[in-house]
Amino acid sequence: MTLKFNSCPHCNQQIMFKVNFDDIDNSRFPAPVYIHHNNEQCGKTSTFYLDSRLQVSYTELDKKPGAIKTIETMK
Ligand SMILES: [Zn+2]
Repeated sequence: MTLKFNSCPHCNQQIMFKVNFDDIDNSRFPAPVYIHHNNEQCGKTSTFYLDSRLQVSYTELDKKPGAIKTIETMK
């Protein structure tokens, strides 16, 4: 389990979430995962693409195909 600090591509606020290899399709990288910003002002879902070390390669504003899980941010 890796704790990630990043920013929400919708509102640019700091976000924090936990991710592990069970959350993504390990057959191809970068692998997408949906990140739901658990925040009253935002509440939007984006797609984060993770490389084989679970580092964030890039993000997309909307839900792209291929993700197998939605992760709630911790704040
Ligand atoms: Zn947000």
